[in-house]
Amino acid sequence: MPSQRIRPASLVVRGGTVLTFDTLGTIARAFAVTDGRIVAVGDDVSAHLGPGTRVLELAGRTVLPGINDTHLHAAWLGARWPHTLLGEAGFSDHVEKPVTTAADRGAALVLAGELCASLGITSYTEPGLGPGETGCFAPEVLDEYAAMAGAGKLKARVTVLRLFGLLDGPSSLADFARGLAAPVPESDPAWLAVRGVKIFADGIPPMRSAWTGHCYADGTHGHLLVDGDGDEDRARNITAMIGLAHEAGMSVGVHATGDRSIETVLGALRRGDHVVHGDLVTPDQLTRMAARGVGLTTQPAIAAAMRELMVAELGAGVAAKAWPLRAMLDSGVPLTLSSDAPVVTPDWRVHVAAAARLLGAEGPDPALMTRLLRCYTTAAAAQDGTASWKGSLSVGKAADFCVLAANPLEIAPAELPGVAVETTVTAGQIVHSG
Ligand SMILES: [Zn+2]
Repeated sequence: MPSQRIRPASLVVRGGTVLTFDTLGTIARAFAVTDGRIVAVGDDVSAHLGPGTRVLELAGRTVLPGINDTHLHAAWLGARWPHTLLGEAGFSDHVEKPVTTAADRGAALVLAGELCASLGITSYTEPGLGPGETGCFAPEVLDEYAAMAGAGKLKARVTVLRLFGLLDGPSSLADFARGLAAPVPESDPAWLAVRGVKIFADGIPPMRSAWTGHCYADGTHGHLLVDGDGDEDRARNITAMIGLAHEAGMSVGVHATGDRSIETVLGALRRGDHVVHGDLVTPDQLTRMAARGVGLTTQPAIAAAMRELMVAELGAGVAAKAWPLRAMLDSGVPLTLSSDAPVVTPDWRVHVAAAARLLGAEGPDPALMTRLLRCYTTAAAAQDGTASWKGSLSVGKAADFCVLAANPLEIAPAELPGVAVETTVTAGQIVHSG
């Protein structure tokens, strides 16, 4: 019997370190890609070479699964870049480009897409587009995404959370129910998935708008942002919103920074949902979130930038316990790291380095670096509901990856921001080559 001929791959990547982040943590030397999927991983995949196979020679460089930023406002990023909201000297007063026309929206998304590609980002979650909002957060941005996805113009895969109130502002149960019933544009979910909703439970501690059991400098405690007649009614309404979203088959991302907000939504959230930010989350809440499978996405660079403001508002004792990154990692909570760009840079290398600094890691620490990078890859895919087909580099998974000039496991975390992202590939197609 003649042996079965292997169909030649469209792309072979070889000659370097391939951090697959599969369940065993396999480190390989090469892999082969056909039709946008990985068809072989190993030290030698030359059996998959054919006359038409494109070969990407790593020459000792390192491949990482594509970065998945689970909280990145791409349209807003495109309107602001190269300026971020939080600069070196606190909140910047830079005025962003207006985003009002279809052309503005398209330009902002194209710019953000190029920026993401240059950073190795192959997936992200756009957290909050909806009818109550305008500009970078308007529902028309979702229409633009659908048009780009349909035309094959997206360089990264996009998950959208719809928003039925104001960004960083109030929402009502009636608007929420109405919004949830509104149709969403048709799209290929591999590129544009609208599978969740965003709810703002509260604001942020520096604005005294996080709902907390602690006391701000002016004696207040913040409150839930959702409409209601007092704390109990608001709590009932946000719980009802979460229930409605679940009934509609949607996952839920709740912006919650205060311990009281987190406590309120914790019992209503379920596996597949996540808390966004979690500044004042307690170790006990993390334990209960882990037990329920409720995820958390947090932003180390924002934590680093906001700590002094937290001291001013809530005192050094509370600030010292805020953003408990070690407990977040060790609790078993499905944890992702994200940028919240353009609040700060979308550069994941900066955030991973910031996380390592918060954890006191100085020299190379492969185990810790692996955990932090998994927060941007495998855990991120678990959060956006795609872990069955992306997030790691194993046979059958999407060929979404980036090539780095150095192996992040072998360097001090502080050096990571200086490691070049040389190539980015989404679905087997090169979307950035530096
Ligand atoms: Zn955000």
